[in-house]
Amino acid sequence: MERSVLQAVLARLEYVGLRPTATRRRLVEILARAAAPLTVPEIISAGTSGPAPVHIPASSAYRNIVHLERAGVVRRIVTSDLHARFELSETLTGDHHHHLVCTRCGRVSDIALPDQLEAALEGTIDRIGRDLDFDVTEHRLDLVGACRDCRR
Ligand SMILES: [Zn+2]
Ligand SMILES: [Zn+2]
Repeated sequence: MERSVLQAVLARLEYVGLRPTATRRRLVEILARAAAPLTVPEIISAGTSGPAPVHIPASSAYRNIVHLERAGVVRRIVTSDLHARFELSETLTGDHHHHLVCTRCGRVSDIALPDQLEAALEGTIDRIGRDLDFDVTEHRLDLVGACRDCRR
């Protein structure tokens, strides 16, 4: 994990008064390494692989991921399947992106929009915010459909 991301996470935890316990740090490390949002079972199995394998009990993983979500460290991505998926909050990573969500297998991938579209979105959203007298701090846009494997 980039040092700056770790520092942002630690600062955020301190700000909300949540201790950076070993389990919470591990959850954050696993999410920082992941290429896409993970379900809690995927987070647990990712913990058992890698350079320093560790078993995080399921109850502890679920409880702490909720703490991290409330703290604004982790963001929940809701799909059509049973399991929510989690990723580090983009306000901490600085990595603004969107998602492809497959409604058949539940797979979620990170995608970047073309810069031109992102700029157009920002401009339009700013205008909507002004019109509605709403202070927009971020936007979320997920593209929902069926992935290639599911259409075969
Ligand atoms: Zn993502
Ligand atoms: Zn965007």
